[in-house]
Amino acid sequence: MEHLFPVLVAEDDLVTQKLIMITLEKAGHTVKAVTNGIKALNAFKKQFYPVLITDWEMPGMTGIELCKLIRDEFSNNYVFIILLTARDKLDDVCIGLEAGADDYITKPFNPPELLARINSGHRILQLERSLKEANKEIMILSITDPLTKSYNRGFLNERLPKEIKRAKRYHHPLSLIMIDIDYFKKLNDTFGHLFGDKVLKAFVDCINTSIRFDIDWIGRFGGEEFLVILPETDFQGSMALADRLRENISKMSLEVDSNKTTRITASFGVTTFDPAIHSVTTAEMMIAQADRDLYKAKEAGRNKVMGNMLGTPSS
Ligand code: GH3
Ligand code: MG
Ligand code: MG
Ligand code: MG
Repeated sequence: MEHLFPVLVAEDDLVTQKLIMITLEKAGHTVKAVTNGIKALNAFKKQFYPVLITDWEMPGMTGIELCKLIRDEFSNNYVFIILLTARDKLDDVCIGLEAGADDYITKPFNPPELLARINSGHRILQLERSLKEANKEIMILSITDPLTKSYNRGFLNERLPKEIKRAKRYHHPLSLIMIDIDYFKKLNDTFGHLFGDKVLKAFVDCINTSIRFDIDWIGRFGGEEFLVILPETDFQGSMALADRLRENISKMSLEVDSNKTTRITASFGVTTFDPAIHSVTTAEMMIAQADRDLYKAKEAGRNKVMGNMLGTPSS
């Protein structure tokens, strides 16, 4: 087996406990043993055990109560529970499984059988792990633009209203920068779409290295247009940042082939929602405001930053 999970054993009979320990340790398992349900829960508070072998009757808290509590409390990570008990009536088996046990072994137990049942638990735990990893990957893919690895439009639509709500709740300003690469069509026409794709990636990488990595974020609005979201950033700060982004982008040296490089510029529209000034806003209002200023930056000759506080006419 490529990976053994740590096992917790709850058993008040010390002879049985010892037998279980010896069986498991011989097979290479890491084992911790306690004598009742309360101690088992305490052990869980210190460390997570994916496998639990528990007796039924124990002083303080029974194995049945322990099963129920674990199912209630550990819904994020699966615990594979084996009930190991002298009770062998059919009714008891049902009660045990209904309380949340995955498997049921009667005493006196047969060591190879116990190990085999733990192995089948391992298969379930491995499956759970790979499912979780796959889910995480799907989740990330569903919010990521495949070309540039920035957030996609769906994420923008969902997340921007939440950022606005947060700004309102904590009375923090929220700024938004809309960026459009200048003459991008011409770049595609001159050097080809594949080169255009490379430039889009380099553009996003450049922005990402210039913003706070854990707070600010960039999303692809469409084509060669992007939004940078700046929580807790006022208008002045975001104008200054936009200008720094503008400069960094204009300085990028883009390699067309081994003996040719080119450059790009971009135009910027900046706006800020400040709960101290504005009573309401929506994602649409912020985007529309930034879009108006972006248009002005284009009209003024491109490679420029224009901005206004939310609700200010962009004349
Ligand atoms: P302006 O300075 O006014 O913004 O001019 P522009 O040429 O950048 O603007 P326009 O809207 O005319 O053209 C945008 C171009 O961006 C056209 C489109 O083919 C290109 N584009 C959009 N998405 C992609 C992409 O994923 N890859 C590549 N290579 N090009 C793209
Ligand atoms: Mg007991
Ligand atoms: Mg455009
Ligand atoms: Mg453009």
